[in-house]
Amino acid sequence: MDIYLASPRGFCAGVVLAIDLVEIALKKYGSPVYVKHQIVHNPVVVSEVEEMGAITVDNVSDVPNNSTVVFSAHGSPPEDYKLAKEKNLRVIDATCPLVTKVHNEAKKYSREGKNIILVGHKGHQEVIGTSGQADMQIIDDRESFNLLNNAKKDSDVVVLSQTTLSVRDTENTVEKIKKVYPNAKIRNDICYATTNRQEVTVKLASKVDLILVVGASNSSNCNRLRDVSIQSGTNSYLINSYDEINPNWLTGIKKLGLTSGASTPENLVYEIVKKLNPNKVIRFHDIDEEIKFEIPRKVKQLLDEE
Ligand code: SF4
Repeated sequence: MDIYLASPRGFCAGVVLAIDLVEIALKKYGSPVYVKHQIVHNPVVVSEVEEMGAITVDNVSDVPNNSTVVFSAHGSPPEDYKLAKEKNLRVIDATCPLVTKVHNEAKKYSREGKNIILVGHKGHQEVIGTSGQADMQIIDDRESFNLLNNAKKDSDVVVLSQTTLSVRDTENTVEKIKKVYPNAKIRNDICYATTNRQEVTVKLASKVDLILVVGASNSSNCNRLRDVSIQSGTNSYLINSYDEINPNWLTGIKKLGLTSGASTPENLVYEIVKKLNPNKVIRFHDIDEEIKFEIPRKVKQLLDEE
């Protein structure tokens, strides 16, 4: 069996920044540093930061007063910042800058009196954060399409999206929205990392017999990689370790595609390649990706202050 290793794959700039911020906070303020929501959606990364002294909690209310807390890369609603202030917490905000961009769009269009529609998965941490920024209607492509037609003029409608959705499914949802609101303003908020990983996976699907996506089951962008592979006609499974591979999946497979989502550490991919022991490993490179995010100005100021 040959393995075709997709490139780009794995960590995006937002994930690298979020993990760096936990490490910086631990070095600067000492343990424990609390992390509100999993810093990124991968249990291995969560365990690693916890081994360094971080404590992951689900809610701001779980953080002891006067402590340091890192808000995860997915973004948080305004109530979380309000409660953090009341509890006198030091907040290191690790929200990905591309999620912050969507928050800013939501606030801007709300000030302009627009009707905002957010295409996203209800209950996902990012959608909880974005939908807290302004009044908006959420359209979830996993549910039947049900758009409230309550805008006075369709030019007053703006469509935002979660950053980690399937590009193809979101285009279909946007087409449906445009049938109701032909003049709606459409913002494409799916991020570069999600788009690039999906694009290369679609191309890889035409080369190989099966694609294994390495990543966690609660990671939106990892799940979407499996979906786009299946939609492109190549079977695919999402696994977070070698042990999760069912040997039957590999029967008759000569060319195996391997990719990973934006929250998956590269050592998990290497470990799986090593244990699969292929005849050849072929790099399937399609897109150059050199994006890096700087520490946001507000966080830098906070770190410099004390
Ligand atoms: S997947 Fe995209 S939006 Fe999410 S952290 Fe990475 S770059 Fe940011």
